[in-house]
Amino acid sequence: MKKYRLPIILLTVFEAVAITLWLTKNNLFYLFNFSYIGLSISLGVFLFIRRYNYARRIVQLLVGLYMLIYLGLICQENMQIEGFWYYLFTGVFEAATIHYAVAKIFGPLIFGRGWCGYACWTAMVLDFLPYKEPNEPRRNLGWIRYITFAVSLIFVSGLFLAKVGNIERIMFLAFVIGNIAYYGTGIALAFAFKDNRAFCKYICPITVFLKPMSYFSMIRIKCDKEKCISCGKCKRVCPMNVDVTDNSRKRKNGTECILCMECVKNCPKNAL
Ligand code: SF4
Ligand code: SF4
Ligand code: SF4
Repeated sequence: MKKYRLPIILLTVFEAVAITLWLTKNNLFYLFNFSYIGLSISLGVFLFIRRYNYARRIVQLLVGLYMLIYLGLICQENMQIEGFWYYLFTGVFEAATIHYAVAKIFGPLIFGRGWCGYACWTAMVLDFLPYKEPNEPRRNLGWIRYITFAVSLIFVSGLFLAKVGNIERIMFLAFVIGNIAYYGTGIALAFAFKDNRAFCKYICPITVFLKPMSYFSMIRIKCDKEKCISCGKCKRVCPMNVDVTDNSRKRKNGTECILCMECVKNCPKNAL
């Protein structure tokens, strides 16, 4: 059972959130929503432990499609960063604010950027592109994320300050247009930089929350120095350019780790 500890911890955390929100908000949706996501993620980790090659991709599709199609398009909840600002400004602790609190602000203290590896519907599509291993060195363009972050905040604040009517409708349109823009930019950058995750590295505004919080993540990939032969394979296959052989929290690109396990799968010495 010891080897299944991680999926059990994840399932327990999500169930605790599901039950707490169900009871405190008196809304059965939260029980369904967080149980579904917790079960999908735990299933993926379980399949990974059982050495099933497509474990992570299955979770990405289960969670990503659920959030994009069911929550986003059918329920018309803007789960992007604009939706988070919107609910925050209206003082409503619902949908996007809860989603951000769990997946992107406090959750990363436990599971780092697991969201980026297993649930994000943008990366769900980007990970189908051909450049799974970055073909070019990382560029110094991370500052762009602060601009996109500021633009999203200014956009929603502007709507409130200008007292624009029917903001709910605008939020839905912003969700649709925002997703089209994310997919378009993400795919173009992936081909331009020969790197599927270029959008995540340089543009995504959500990383402004994710990176500092995941610095303290409880769940991390660690390297057994006794076994490591410094072959460099783990760094070559890492989609996020993490120096996973360094066990310190200050490891190079440490806050970029999406827990995709490619390094673990490819290490010839089982050192990770
Ligand atoms: S960095 Fe942004 S786009 Fe990339 S996986 Fe994370 S949340 Fe999604
Ligand atoms: S792949 Fe394994 S053995 Fe090679 S450098 Fe990485 S941890 Fe060490
Ligand atoms: S390959 Fe390893 S270090 Fe790189 S993102 Fe995936 S889990 Fe993290």
